[in-house]
Amino acid sequence: MTARSLQSAERLCKEKGLTFTPLRRQVYGLISADKTPIGAYELLDRLKKQRANAAPVTVYRALDFLQEAGLVHRIDALHAYAACEVDRTDHGGLMLVCNRCKTVTEFENPGLEQQIAETALQHEFHASEDLVEIRGLCSLCADIS
Ligand SMILES: [Zn+2]
Ligand SMILES: [Zn+2]
Repeated sequence: MTARSLQSAERLCKEKGLTFTPLRRQVYGLISADKTPIGAYELLDRLKKQRANAAPVTVYRALDFLQEAGLVHRIDALHAYAACEVDRTDHGGLMLVCNRCKTVTEFENPGLEQQIAETALQHEFHASEDLVEIRGLCSLCADIS
């Protein structure tokens, strides 16, 4: 799967009544161009090549926006951000995270999401919509280990 295009991200923001500013667009472009999730400071370094005055707060604000819009997920295991790869934006996301090459594969499984929600409910646990990260080795990395 691949991240949605800039045009599709733009359309999504418009549908939600959100403003896709040039800065947000740039940050999203940097995240979605990368095959592996990208950390905030790495993002800042790259952004500075386009905007010399970019500061950490600039990046964090844009990231907050992109996460809320459902365009980007924060991968806790890697302390990094990845572009969402599915069409729905109202989900926490299910992620396969490779410990070695750091690639992240997002997949959809409404049944699994439902089960997680039901399990939480049974325990009277209020689950947040955070994504589920499954860590391990991708097929390429498993082959060389
Ligand atoms: Zn997603
Ligand atoms: Zn791998």
